[in-house]
Amino acid sequence: MKKLISTNPAKNYEVLGSVDVSTSKEINSKITKARSATAAWKALGVVKRIEFLQPLYQQFLKRKKEIALLVTREIGKPITESKSDLDWDDGYFQDFLEQGPTYLEDEISYQKDKKVHRLVYEPLGIAAVIVPWNYPFGNFLWGVVPNLIAGNTVVFKHSEECPLMGKLIDEMMDTLHLPEGVFSQIYGGGKVGEQLVNGDIDLIWFTGSTGTGKKLYEIAGKKFIKGVMELGGSNPAVVFEDVNIDTIIGTLYTGRFMNCGQVCDATKRLIVHKSIYGALVKKLEERLADVKIGDPESEGTQLGSLVAKRQLELLEGQVSDAVTRGARIVSGGSRPVGLRGAYYLPTLLTNVKRPMRVWKEEVFGPVLPVIPFQTEEEAIELANDTPYGLGAQVFSKDVDRALRVANKINAGCVDVNEGNHWQPCTPFGGFKGSGKGREHGKPGFQELCQIKVIALG
Ligand code: NAD
Repeated sequence: MKKLISTNPAKNYEVLGSVDVSTSKEINSKITKARSATAAWKALGVVKRIEFLQPLYQQFLKRKKEIALLVTREIGKPITESKSDLDWDDGYFQDFLEQGPTYLEDEISYQKDKKVHRLVYEPLGIAAVIVPWNYPFGNFLWGVVPNLIAGNTVVFKHSEECPLMGKLIDEMMDTLHLPEGVFSQIYGGGKVGEQLVNGDIDLIWFTGSTGTGKKLYEIAGKKFIKGVMELGGSNPAVVFEDVNIDTIIGTLYTGRFMNCGQVCDATKRLIVHKSIYGALVKKLEERLADVKIGDPESEGTQLGSLVAKRQLELLEGQVSDAVTRGARIVSGGSRPVGLRGAYYLPTLLTNVKRPMRVWKEEVFGPVLPVIPFQTEEEAIELANDTPYGLGAQVFSKDVDRALRVANKINAGCVDVNEGNHWQPCTPFGGFKGSGKGREHGKPGFQELCQIKVIALG
């Protein structure tokens, strides 16, 4: 039996455990069982489906500490962040369970005399839910729970970087005693994921890199099924000259360096007005000098390791390309001395040019390229100079200007003078290479359904 090995990237890749990779036979059998379960799960209705799922929330509350520690061990995230992520997830969980019925409620599109056109949100069938590792519990929660509430049965594949979280999720789901086939999980990497999406399914619900997302969207196209794609990003933050630098440094720091920079929606390119460029870079440099990097299990640690050696090497390649093309390393730019594992110092790059990989590609690690601008038009052009379009930030005391710029940035969500648009009721997703479709809130739930019109004459 092939094994998927879980390692701790912050403890020199020490082995944590393993799971068996799912075989083709197992994958096909789970899809077949999911198919058999679709009609009854749909017929149950949203309220009864939520009743089935409610105990999962109690399990989550009971096992929060254990989940946080496992997240920290499998992906190297500081324990304080792992815990606060789960507090954040708590809000999503409650919203899904409480608001699910409202999000999926029938709607009336037309009414005249006795005629009524009713829009009914019907499930699609089997959802293949495939997710990455950067929020090991959140990635599961955001993908699987709304699909089950919407009435789809789910075959789930977690990332090969956190197989033990997959195992823990299986244990939690087992306690629900869902009807056979409603939820199952398969284990493995890309090959296993490919077998799943090529099986008899009705929806590919995917979160991950743009490269994989495009491949899966092609498969969905060939099969003529729906694909919801939550993909990579290279968010710009545009900072105008009238800001109070001290008040935004914390937001900029968190926006880039949270989760060791491994966030789809992180600030990945900083675009600063020329007149405050030097002062802002200096403040960021001072902020980075204070960062406590080290053992993520220690409560005082602010920056842990990256998720894996391959991610560290990818990041090193991107920084080295920038330096070769003339970028200046203001802070960091290397692995820290004395730490063994996938660690990288928080890094600030100036003299950044557009052909550099740190500008053109998604940088999934603690590296921030900073570039100056002179005019509003130039700032907008730089912000949009990317194949991605997930999020963006604009900072200016002149709210009219900030809103004008926000309107011209091609992204799924633009923060104006703040750093966090994440709310369970607010849809999330990207423009351009950052995705197709939305998750969360009413649009996110409706995305998991097909609309049937019942026109009563
Ligand atoms: P990835 O695309 O390498 O892998 C994601 C998942 O897809 C994993 O479970 C993987 O096993 C699976 N997979 C890989 N190849 C596959 C294939 N050919 N067929 C089927 N499944 C396949 O991404 P990653 O490195 O795990 O995650 C990081 C990426 O995810 C970043 O680009 C990040 O921006 C993105 N991300 C996006 C969001 C969002 O909501 N937009 C959220 C988190 C992460």
